[in-house]
Amino acid sequence: MKTTTLFLSVLFLLPLFMFTACGQNTNKQNNPKKAISMETPIKKPGNQYYSNTDTTKLNLTDAEWKKVLPEDVYEVMRHADTERPFTGKYWNIDEKGTYYCASCGNKLFRSGAKFASSCGWPSFFEQDNKNSVIYKTDNTLGMERTEALCGRCGGHLGHLFDDGPAPTGKRYCMNSIALDFIPDTK
Ligand code: FE
Repeated sequence: MKTTTLFLSVLFLLPLFMFTACGQNTNKQNNPKKAISMETPIKKPGNQYYSNTDTTKLNLTDAEWKKVLPEDVYEVMRHADTERPFTGKYWNIDEKGTYYCASCGNKLFRSGAKFASSCGWPSFFEQDNKNSVIYKTDNTLGMERTEALCGRCGGHLGHLFDDGPAPTGKRYCMNSIALDFIPDTK
């Protein structure tokens, strides 16, 4: 009797399970490969490439960037200029929130990774995710340094050093002007 009941239960539940499983598969097939972000969309007037939700990589010309970026942002982010220390808007703030690329809106850092550095530029010990920041060897000014660039648009952010605090020992030394800070909603 028990075996019959078990058999009937399985017979009844199997189609339900199959339907659910098929539903999941169909969903996966319909979803594009691009990651869907749950972030609140942020727009930047005059810069149609700016998005904190679209992770598609950007490969624009210098002329295209010049059209959409303010001159000071353009000089730092496209020509690797450096803002003067202790002058940027973020070097000494300690609010909870997220830092995005000022050129393209890519999510770069969370405030929890920011630390008080005496260098005069906003400093972080880790990037938000593997697509936030990419690196390039920089041999300018007679030094060998690691340049830190936005992982989405390739814009210059600053440099990466090995004298940061635990747990990573890294110091992402960033130009404030290359960042947009959005405070957490309370
Ligand atoms: Fe960017």
